[in-house]
Amino acid sequence: MSATIGQPVEYELMVLGAGPGGYSAALEAARLGARVALIERDEPGGTCLHRGCIPAKTMYEASRHCEPFHEATERRYRVIRELHGQLLKLLTHPKITLIRGQGFIETPSRVRVTTGDDVQIIAAPRLVVATGSVPIMPDGLPAVGRKMDSDGATFLEALPARAVVLGGGYTGCEYAGILNTYGVPVVIVELGEHLLMTEDADVVAELTANFTARGIDVRTGTSLEEVELQPTDLLLVTVGRVPESSGVGLEQLGVRFGRRNGLVVNERMETGVPGVYAIGDVLDAKWRFAHVAEAEAKVAVRNALGQDARADYRVVPSTIFTDPLVMSVGARESDLSREDYVVGKAPFRYNSMANCSGDTRGFVKILVERGAPHRILGAAAVGQDIEIHQMAMAMASGATVHDVSEMIHFHPSRGEAVKQAAEAAVRRLEAEARRAGR
Ligand SMILES: Cc1cc2nc3c(=O)[nH]c(=O)nc-3n(C[C@H](O)[C@H](O)[C@H](O)COP(=O)(O)OP(=O)(O)OC[C@H]3O[C@@H](n4cnc5c(N)ncnc54)[C@H](O)[C@@H]3O)c2cc1C
Repeated sequence: MSATIGQPVEYELMVLGAGPGGYSAALEAARLGARVALIERDEPGGTCLHRGCIPAKTMYEASRHCEPFHEATERRYRVIRELHGQLLKLLTHPKITLIRGQGFIETPSRVRVTTGDDVQIIAAPRLVVATGSVPIMPDGLPAVGRKMDSDGATFLEALPARAVVLGGGYTGCEYAGILNTYGVPVVIVELGEHLLMTEDADVVAELTANFTARGIDVRTGTSLEEVELQPTDLLLVTVGRVPESSGVGLEQLGVRFGRRNGLVVNERMETGVPGVYAIGDVLDAKWRFAHVAEAEAKVAVRNALGQDARADYRVVPSTIFTDPLVMSVGARESDLSREDYVVGKAPFRYNSMANCSGDTRGFVKILVERGAPHRILGAAAVGQDIEIHQMAMAMASGATVHDVSEMIHFHPSRGEAVKQAAEAAVRRLEAEARRAGR
């Protein structure tokens, strides 16, 4: 039997879900002086800390540094524990009350929280929905030795005889790379024409060639039925995620749902229901990243507390932790019209530092607006020991291709490839100007 504990507890803001979106929202609200209730049914940290970025990247780094698998799995838990402890300390802020339990939105200003047999009502004039997403596990998959999604991969304790990775998005590619580095034969099965559907064709071609050279069996344009499965295979299902938007009380609020039941918001992160904001993976959005959820949290909270803030997705850096790394920021070529941009490209085989390290795989490319002042519209890189923030910073500060090509870069460094790519774009722009008689 459930018991309601006392009167509704009143706050200035409620946040439902304590993943990177939700906890960032609570911290921002506290920073701005608001009393905030942060409601979480599990442990704060969400997918990113417990089942996503952090365990996956720990395993990636471990595999890269030849750390034995069983030590890496142990360390993975230590890393999660350490970061979880740090997060809990941050959440002891006097303005934040962490309420553990399953939240259900009764009205825009009331959330019912159930913890075991106890029920309490939390009330506030503003609500931020940050309930995240869950992995898709399609029905009717064939029987194999073991079958798991990316949540399950977090807790993988032993290496399989062979892994069949269903889905060639970034999660599938990252886990395929890790398992392959640990010596597991890996097949990636992707129904689409190529891996990493969100990246440009030259970027994907470079990664695919490297995967193939390392012995990863990449089968694109292929369905799982076309692959002969062994009883001892691990079937790792990484076919995407769906917003966690049902069963939370959102339907009767009148919020709008988009693709896969993701919430639709405007650039202020407003759902259209007064006082209700939504952020992060629960949205019908292009980006599903922890850093995007965090940025959206700040926008939502500032608006909820009377400021005027807008989400800006022009500079969203992404990194795919494969070997080599795949990075991009801003526009992809497929986002742009051919006549609006020029490409500058610098292969790492002409980069001194890449030659010093003995790893000259990959390239840097930048997309530059064809018209003056020739700002940078996007950039991508494939290679080892590279960083995307140099380009992200250039874009965020409105730098032009001339700013980047003229800036003194340290020598020898892989960062010089960015300068070389900018110089290539400048040469192209100059050649076009000459042809046009300008
Ligand atoms: C394998 C993997 C690797 C990834 N790697 C990266 C990476 O390298 N970089 C990156 O930026 N992103 C990465 N991501 C994506 C990243 O994890 C998500 O984008 C991020 O966690 C989204 O944050 P969120 O706060 O929106 O949702 P979540 O992190 O999903 O958090 C939602 C929280 O809400 C809680 N919740 C849901 N419903 C309720 C309810 N009714 N009541 C109470 N609590 C509720 C959940 O328990 C959860 O804690 C990765 C994801 C995966 C799966």
